[in-house]
Amino acid sequence: MKTTTEAGEKVIPRITKATMKALVYGGPGKIELKEIPVPILEKPTDALVKILKTTICGTDLGILKGKTPSVKPGTTLGHEGVGIVEEIGSAVRNFKKGDHVIISCITSDGTCEYCKKQMYSHCEDGGWILGNLINGTQAEYVRIPHADNSLYAIPAKADEEALVMLSDILPTGHEIGVINGCVKPGDTIAIVGAGPIGMSVLLTAQFYSPAKIYMIDVDENRLELAKKFGATDTINSEKEDAIKRIMAETKDGVDVSIEAVGLPATFDICQNIIRPGGHVANIGVHGHSVDLQIQNLWIKNITITMGLVNTNTTPMLLKTVSSGKIDPNKLITHHFKLDEILKAYEVFGNASKEKAMKVIIEP
Ligand SMILES: [Zn+2]
Ligand SMILES: [Zn+2]
Repeated sequence: MKTTTEAGEKVIPRITKATMKALVYGGPGKIELKEIPVPILEKPTDALVKILKTTICGTDLGILKGKTPSVKPGTTLGHEGVGIVEEIGSAVRNFKKGDHVIISCITSDGTCEYCKKQMYSHCEDGGWILGNLINGTQAEYVRIPHADNSLYAIPAKADEEALVMLSDILPTGHEIGVINGCVKPGDTIAIVGAGPIGMSVLLTAQFYSPAKIYMIDVDENRLELAKKFGATDTINSEKEDAIKRIMAETKDGVDVSIEAVGLPATFDICQNIIRPGGHVANIGVHGHSVDLQIQNLWIKNITITMGLVNTNTTPMLLKTVSSGKIDPNKLITHHFKLDEILKAYEVFGNASKEKAMKVIIEP
């Protein structure tokens, strides 16, 4: 193949495939595995990535329920995955064809006011756009804008499947739960919600050596898993009063309570078990307002935080996974081929019945 022009300029060899399979959103309740054109580079800072592994997020289920009106029909869903760089734009410096990469759920140009504050979630030309405002990763190929800042190189011999958890859930649990909640050595903490995000909080909180970790959920299977992953105490809030039990077992509540569901009832547990000076860290995506008990909380010097992940701790998390300090592989319960992605949505949508945590989807 000719790789330079007459003038000596490098020619990027075109991929031969013209169309690909992609999971396309068709409006609330509607998704379809379709044949659509393979994306092309639109800007010199773009890269085209061939997907090796992707997954489904709770956020995707929310989109299907019509909770996220910013996602227009015709959009390919998905904002997580690992892949191989297939093509790069002329301005991409950090990656080349053939590089294995983690795709961050947050796109960032690295130059705007927010990026300079490491608030990549609010990048003026990025943020959460994949599988939301632009086509996402539940496909054979994806176009990644601002590739230099939005992709992470995978070290040689790394477990690529485990690294899919670095696209979104591990940084989200770590940054919005553990760091915002200021988890410290010796703390007593409570995590409400033992789904993939709550489990990511559980895994990453242990970097900071809390003394006691309560996991609260209504699913016995998930509570059992939480014990294996390091929870010291579990509470099934359907079978017993979580607030009563924690207040009885602690002096005056927990140092940090972390909400990982997104419902008024789970937020209410968090605000009722927090001790003076404590932190309530909300991660859950709420569809409705919550009843904030400010009349009780103000005098207790409580800090409440919430937010969208910035992914600024992804490089640090990558090192901890590579060194075996944490093993996010244990969150993976199911595998599917891209052809079976509708089945994967069904299984993930019935997570409790199917005993599903994270599902991996491969081409
Ligand atoms: Zn997600
Ligand atoms: Zn930016």
